[in-house]
Amino acid sequence: MPAKPKIALIAHDACKDKMISWAEANQTYFDGARIFATGTTGGRLQEALPSLDVTRFKSGPLGGDQQIGAMICEGGLDALIFFIDPMSPMPHDVDVKALTRLAIVYDLPMACSPATADCIVQKFKPAAGA
Ligand code: PGA
Repeated sequence: MPAKPKIALIAHDACKDKMISWAEANQTYFDGARIFATGTTGGRLQEALPSLDVTRFKSGPLGGDQQIGAMICEGGLDALIFFIDPMSPMPHDVDVKALTRLAIVYDLPMACSPATADCIVQKFKPAAGA
């Protein structure tokens, strides 16, 4: 049996509802995945989808983004889905930039919106009839 894909999910506050709706729409897929999330995003996911296997890190502004960055460096993730708020300045902008940079350095599939996140889910779905 292939290993479960390990996916990191992060959403800025203004994007958390969008992340929850997107995760609910993809629940069948996530039931076969391991999820890693920043603190508040992970809490919202566990509340909405209690069957998910979610490992929660610290909240993003308190170092959670960097913990996920460390996972990328160690080869511990298959994809990063990060719904970044494009309209608000963030106190932890540098962490967002660092995380994005590491995803590029390690060529990790990264999505920042539901449309691109759909492409990532598609990539890890078992082939029909498999
Ligand atoms: P949060 O962190 O899930 O703890 O809100 C997200 C972020 O702002 O990076």
